[in-house]
Amino acid sequence: MTEVSTLNQGKEQPIKASEIDPTFKYELEKIPGAEKILLCFQCGTCTSDCPIARFSDNYRPRTLIHMAQLGLKDRVLNSATLWLCSACFTCTDRCPQNVEVDSIIRVFRNLAVKKGYIPQGLCNQAQSLLETGYVAKVPESRIRKRENYGLPPLPQGNAEAIKKILRGISFFDSLQTLPKGDNKNDP
Ligand code: SF4
Ligand code: SF4
Repeated sequence: MTEVSTLNQGKEQPIKASEIDPTFKYELEKIPGAEKILLCFQCGTCTSDCPIARFSDNYRPRTLIHMAQLGLKDRVLNSATLWLCSACFTCTDRCPQNVEVDSIIRVFRNLAVKKGYIPQGLCNQAQSLLETGYVAKVPESRIRKRENYGLPPLPQGNAEAIKKILRGISFFDSLQTLPKGDNKNDP
């Protein structure tokens, strides 16, 4: 099992030469969505306009991109803050270099999942989606409360249709690698 790191992205940490993968940025350039990563000149506009960065001391999209440019592959993919992005596209709209920041974050996440780095909470949601068709299991108490109020039953989630859609891509393979149990590093 691989756990998501508690790495505080905002804190400066010494970089060891052994951590650097100089090929990472070239690997990223070939992945759809991350092609423009080397155009980033670290102006910081994405971070200053990011609504998540406004409320988090740790989440900095500019820093994630810089770390990737430096080749700090494992730090980027193992960062718990990676999962805080809400995909609102503000960064992409404002970037003077037309870097598709939100797409790059998506690429980071996909690579992270392949390595088994994913917060347990999101893993639970994925498993619930496959089992019930809902990202969160509806508790029995909620169902009983609806009955007491005379509300109609909730529609059944179509888990089979979702599985059909996801079959054929590597989603199920990725799910096998996801961590089980409590992960204290959930964002
Ligand atoms: S706004 Fe664009 S160029 Fe500026 S730091 Fe963010 S990604 Fe890089
Ligand atoms: S897409 Fe993500 S990184 Fe970009 S501004 Fe929105 S929350 Fe911030």
